Amino acid sequence: MQNNLKIAFIGLGNMGGPMALNLLKAKFKLTVFDLMPQAVATLVAQGATSAKTAIEAVSGADVVISMLPAGKHVDALYLGSENQAGLISVLDKKCLVIDSSTIDTATAQKVGKALAEQGIASIDAPVSGGVGGATAGTLTFIVGGEKVHFEQALPVLNKMGKNIFLAGPLGAGQTAKICNNMLLSVLMAGTSEALQLAIDNGLDPKVVSDIMLQSSGRNWTLELYNPCPDVMPNVPSSKGYKGGFMVDLMKKDLGLAMDTATKSHSSTPMGELAQRLYSQHSEQGNGQLDFSSIFTLFSNQSKKS
Ligand code: NAD
Repeated sequence: MQNNLKIAFIGLGNMGGPMALNLLKAKFKLTVFDLMPQAVATLVAQGATSAKTAIEAVSGADVVISMLPAGKHVDALYLGSENQAGLISVLDKKCLVIDSSTIDTATAQKVGKALAEQGIASIDAPVSGGVGGATAGTLTFIVGGEKVHFEQALPVLNKMGKNIFLAGPLGAGQTAKICNNMLLSVLMAGTSEALQLAIDNGLDPKVVSDIMLQSSGRNWTLELYNPCPDVMPNVPSSKGYKGGFMVDLMKKDLGLAMDTATKSHSSTPMGELAQRLYSQHSEQGNGQLDFSSIFTLFSNQSKKS
């Protein structure tokens, strides 16, 4: 059975690709666009319609979903830039815009307000759960916007995620997501540091991971995303830190968290330290690796001493 909603999906990277695939599996009519032809071809092979431009992709769409790297890409896509017209000039008034990229709250609010002024509804709906969650359709969506638009989006978000929260008004999804990712970076760095300490003292990282999983150090990274190679199958650390959530994207999120903390005069010393560690790790040429590769910052240090 074909689902009647027409969805345009823009940004088919590590996250957007599998999210779009789940919409296809749910039988939505899907038109896709990405700057990388290969990403488009993968979805077309599964039944999506391709578009040559973002503007072509949104023609006749009931829902537009974007999954782009950063605020500047989202701003340019919807509001336009020197080189291209923004989607705002062509979107139908009954269309619902769902931006799932993780971006700064100010840009999310700016884009949302500009769309609202043209009578176009939108929500910010960043996600948590990584590529694994995107593939399995079990993402957590953290939404900012009006309740009516949140409810309108639910039948679509339900096909890509399991837990869907309304955090507050426009931009609140981004603020909540940034708080989550700051905590995640601290947990990942702390877990890596603890595992390396155990290894340096002659312990087996798999045994220590099992112990900590049943002890008070238990956390998401140990449960689902162990950063030490070969402790857990099918996670980036056991695949050369390929795929997953890039160091440079985590670095971006920590920058957003620190900007948010500066604006609200919040004290975030753990977040600041995590930002320094991720920046150092990126400067050493690891920006494109999965963020769990922060483990190597500690293991390489141990090898040197
Ligand atoms: P990615 O770099 O793999 O994918 C981004 C895609 O957007 C690329 O395919 C790129 O070609 C495309 N793109 C960029 N500009 C475009 C434009 N103007 N028009 C069309 N396509 C364009 O990134 P990702 O890992 O999929 O992450 C996307 C967003 O999701 C980011 O904001 C990231 O912070 C967030 N996020 C990622 C993860 C993760 O685990 N990877 C988890 C949660 C949230």
